Amino acid sequence: MSTQEQAPEQADGQAVTDPATPPQKAVVDPATGRTIAWVDQLGPEEAAKAAARGRAVQPAWEALGFEGRARVMRRAQKWVTDHSDELVATIVSETGKAWEDAQMAEVMYAASAFGHWADHAEGLLADERIKVASPLMKGKKVFTRHAPLGLVGVIAPWNYPFVNGFGDCIPALMAGNSVLLKPAEKTPLTSLLMARVLRECGLPDGVFQVLTGKGSVLGEALVDVVDMIMFTGSTPVGRTIGAQAGRRLIPCSLELGGKDPFIVLADADLERAANHALFYSMFNTGQTCISVERVYVEAPVYDEFVAKITKKAKALRNGTPTGPGATDVGALTIESQVATVSEHVEDARKKGATIVAGGDPDPNRPGWWYPPTVLTDVDHSMECMTEETFGPTLPIMKVADAEEAIRLANDSPYGLMASVFTKDTVKGEQIARRIQAGSVHVNDALIGYTALEAPMGGWKDSGLGARHGAPGIRKYTNSQTIIVSKYHLKKEPQVYPYTGRSFKLLGRVTKFFYGRGTRD
Ligand code: NAD
Repeated sequence: MSTQEQAPEQADGQAVTDPATPPQKAVVDPATGRTIAWVDQLGPEEAAKAAARGRAVQPAWEALGFEGRARVMRRAQKWVTDHSDELVATIVSETGKAWEDAQMAEVMYAASAFGHWADHAEGLLADERIKVASPLMKGKKVFTRHAPLGLVGVIAPWNYPFVNGFGDCIPALMAGNSVLLKPAEKTPLTSLLMARVLRECGLPDGVFQVLTGKGSVLGEALVDVVDMIMFTGSTPVGRTIGAQAGRRLIPCSLELGGKDPFIVLADADLERAANHALFYSMFNTGQTCISVERVYVEAPVYDEFVAKITKKAKALRNGTPTGPGATDVGALTIESQVATVSEHVEDARKKGATIVAGGDPDPNRPGWWYPPTVLTDVDHSMECMTEETFGPTLPIMKVADAEEAIRLANDSPYGLMASVFTKDTVKGEQIARRIQAGSVHVNDALIGYTALEAPMGGWKDSGLGARHGAPGIRKYTNSQTIIVSKYHLKKEPQVYPYTGRSFKLLGRVTKFFYGRGTRD
């Protein structure tokens, strides 16, 4: 198995730059183990310089207005649709995912997100007139407005280099901020490509900067120089960043890990449920925060469901992603994921689980791989049911009834997404309301992420705040309430000097307005 510490090799079709100026770090194609590029390892000094540059150009970017900023985003949208193959190839080269994974989740998202925020930012951030009940506010005009924060920092994971990194920069930019993006160490190339694209699309220099480097050095430094931090990644790092942001009293938005449950009731359309459970557990090689990570099936349909999944899983191809249609399930993006997935499968096997598909990775295969694996006879004593696996595994547990499924679904520190399959959609909605998760699908999974109009965020250890919807852009602003008094008395009764008369008057006003309760 090749690693980035080895000497750089020429990968097909990719120029390899000599790492002449240290510090540099190799970017490795996870499907082959070959080095495909070298990138700078920046630190606190570069973060501070980039922050100064970003702050200097932000007022002019804000002054362009929504339409001026939207023009840049619409050009970028066109670039994405015209050059989708280049974007897919870059994403695949640094993640090892299947071309179709990149096309559906990253390119379609990119194309829709540029247009969505270009079209809706102005409406979502428009001034809002507020009707006020207080008798002390009679005749005054009250409204809120949303002002950009200034400089936003975005820290990204490696599993979706576009969606979960650059994707969050689009609303931050549309809100009028400058942005510093730190991609994951393993997957910087997509972010660097998008920086080039935005420049070509007319984004002023310095408004968007990509800083590449180590999380514990550059990432920490970034949190220290920005006005807000948008973080997507693991729960332990999210806690650290939340604490650091707390010390600086800057807002942070945290999109963290998940262990999404998938409930199949006895009356479900089993064919659809099996197709969805398999696809959304293996999609992106299972490396999605909102992957189906555990399945609970009501006893009467358990055997039939398992039989369907097993047959479909055994038919999946786990080949090298050389182009469209080359494979169903790609490589794992980072080496340590091979160990995590193996550990969860072996722990389950030792505790009595049955592996009905996959389960035995080839140790001699170059790159980082684990075959699509389905486990049965699992329970909550096993890591595969309680800890985030983030790999191509699908553990299926038999439950007595819906009540047991709901209890087990909620028996997790995470609460990102969930699914319920039943033909009775009224019952499905009732169950959805009892599940502790930021989004719940009835007869679907994961796809709700593409609803950019709807907020998406985690409960419990899965995060704080949301992306998409109104909160997905307002979080990049300071809200300001403006109170305007146009017609007024020279002296209102509540102001000095205090007299017994004003005391009585205010008492009468209080009784008049609130004496019978405010709802009568
Ligand atoms: P990670 O937490 O290890 O790293 C995420 C980013 O944080 C990287 O850029 C890393 O360099 C940086 N980082 C690491 N330590 C840091 C520190 N001390 N200060 C500042 N930055 C630091 O996560 P990962 O392994 O890259 O990603 C996988 C995790 O991300 C999974 O848990 C997955 O569920 C989660 N994720 C969540 C969502 C979501 O929307 N909720 C989406 C994608 C991934």
